[in-house]
Amino acid sequence: MRINADTDRCIGAGMCVLTAPDVFDQSEDDGTVLVLEPEPPEARRAAVRRAVQVCPSGALSLS
Ligand code: SF4
Repeated sequence: MRINADTDRCIGAGMCVLTAPDVFDQSEDDGTVLVLEPEPPEARRAAVRRAVQVCPSGALSLS
C-alpha cells in the first residue's frame, strides 16, 4: 500500500490526522496534509483506509 496525497486538493480539514495520527500530520504553514508514512505497515492500514474515506476533498488515494 502506498498513500498518494494531492496537496492542491487538500483543504486542511484535518480528518486524516484525527483518523490516523501516526500516519498523517498537517503543515504548520497552510494546514495541508503531510504523509509521515507513505507506505504504512499492516497494523495501520485499516486506519489509513478510513482516513481516505473521510477526507472531504478527495485528496487522498491508495495505490
Ligand atoms: S482529510 Fe483530506 S482535506 Fe483534510 S487534511 Fe487530510 S487530506 Fe487534507
